Amino acid sequence: CGIVGLVGKEAKEIVLNGLTKLEYRGYDSAGIYLNDLAGNEYLTKTTGRIQNLKEQMQTKEQGLVGIGHTRWATHGEPTDNNAHPQFDQTKRFYMVHNGVIENYQEIKDKYLKNIIFKSNTDTEVMVQLISKIVQEQELDTFSALKQALNLIRGSYAILLIDNKYPDHIYIAKNKSPLMLGLGHNFNIIASDALSVLDQTKTFIDIQDGEVGDITKNNYKLETLDGKAVAHQSYQVNIDP
Ligand code: GLU
Repeated sequence: CGIVGLVGKEAKEIVLNGLTKLEYRGYDSAGIYLNDLAGNEYLTKTTGRIQNLKEQMQTKEQGLVGIGHTRWATHGEPTDNNAHPQFDQTKRFYMVHNGVIENYQEIKDKYLKNIIFKSNTDTEVMVQLISKIVQEQELDTFSALKQALNLIRGSYAILLIDNKYPDHIYIAKNKSPLMLGLGHNFNIIASDALSVLDQTKTFIDIQDGEVGDITKNNYKLETLDGKAVAHQSYQVNIDP
């Protein structure tokens, strides 16, 4: 029921702390994906509290980019496999998602017949679909994300990592909360500003129907049909 992503500096503690501050939203499982931008990636997922997740992680698991999730199961039992991040069968794409995909069965039957699924989540259908579009149409990930979301109905706040270009976090929002926090040489994305106020006080509210490509020094926001959008950032003047 909450997500946090960070690109541009050591992500582990910041993402885990952010998730802890989102605990009030309620959840049954949690997970984190980290990539050190030097060829190592780490995925840890578990049922239960953030404390369990922390205990299962080794000190060497660090990353300069990371995405984390607390899950409130809607499709599939609370299990380790159903916890997010969800990934595609080539293990290239990793996704955290808050929300509900209404037409996931239809997408599965129509486009993903030969795919072996590892979870029972609606989320995995999205990440497998993006992977398939990238491979079959040789599209870049940002374009494939837009194309996939044009086929999808439902609510979502999404963070996506492509481990071929791990210094990017791709984002999307429809009817689930998502804010972009702007930092110096890093950017952070979260379900609410309060969970990451110790990192930045400058925010942009992502709007429904928008997608983004976030790097440590830059961000690009578009509508699902590819029109550039620009939002004024604002300051949150509360001490964490
Ligand atoms: N529908 C997704 C699932 O059941 C996401 C749930 C959530 O928002 O935490 O895995």
